[in-house]
Amino acid sequence: MAVTVRVPAKVNLQLAVGPVRADGYHSLVTVFHAVSLFDEVTAAAADKTAIAVTGEDAAAVPTDRSNLAWQAASALAKAAGLRGAAVRIEIRKRIPVAAGLAGGSADAAATLVACNELWQTGLSARDLAGLAASLGSDVPFALVGGTAVGRGRGEHLTAALAAGTYHWALAFGHEGLSTAQVYATCDRLRAARAAAGDQPRRGEPELSKPLMTALRSGDPAQVGPLLINDLQPAALSLQPDLRRALAAGREHGALGAIVSGSGPTCAFLASDAARARELAVALTGSGICRAVVRASGPVPGAAIVRDNQPS
Ligand code: ATP
Repeated sequence: MAVTVRVPAKVNLQLAVGPVRADGYHSLVTVFHAVSLFDEVTAAAADKTAIAVTGEDAAAVPTDRSNLAWQAASALAKAAGLRGAAVRIEIRKRIPVAAGLAGGSADAAATLVACNELWQTGLSARDLAGLAASLGSDVPFALVGGTAVGRGRGEHLTAALAAGTYHWALAFGHEGLSTAQVYATCDRLRAARAAAGDQPRRGEPELSKPLMTALRSGDPAQVGPLLINDLQPAALSLQPDLRRALAAGREHGALGAIVSGSGPTCAFLASDAARARELAVALTGSGICRAVVRASGPVPGAAIVRDNQPS
């Protein structure tokens, strides 16, 4: 008895970071975009909960209760009133760890969907979305995928009217970046600019209307120059080599070049699949990045791909 779920990585087409809230989180407006780089999570009946991780960066992923997938299974069991429910979770990673692609959040969303099916809890999609928000800011989006606007900490989602398919080259960094450290650096850089009288008081973050219009057009040439990430200066200050990666992508014809989320992955938008392939080859040849993959978006969120349960 086992259920396998496939779940995508995300890039942020816009990430607007507002002031710190009373609860310590920053208020955000972000445009999430799910891309065809997938982890796979299998949940199987077991006497004792355990996690096994294989694939990209597997050694960097915890296999104890601190794994977001474990927390997702526990939260679901509790919400469904299944005391003592246990599950064996296998995670096959292709999404690199601490890369700004929300890999851990993706695994949590996949585990919710897989265990929900395995245990036949009867919980609704709305219940799952509520559990997802309690697990992390990026988890609700990994459930739905596509292109969506996130507000609050990113967990309040509305669908975005986006047309067309977008082709990306994703360049992975040599080392990960801690999301907490990137936000702290962003705050420090802003405080320094404010002290120098160089920055107006920061209000609530706002959705980019030009970007939303461009997304409705489905034209990557319009979308590319409008990609924007408020965390990029902080990520670049922590890993200055990322500037070279972004410049190399632009030189090789990217329509847009941006750090994804808290980084260090750089996302390069191409005009079509063939150009994305050329871009990936050129970036690989430049030797600046650890690895480069191609991906397209938007793709759907966490979805069951195998269900070996008795019907
Ligand atoms: P985000 O953009 O959501 O902040 P990220 O993509 O930068 O996240 P993740 O790959 O989610 O980063 O990993 C962040 C940390 O979470 C890792 O350093 C790891 O210790 C921990 N972690 C917990 N569960 C997982 C998981 N299932 N996969 C990857 N990392 C996990």
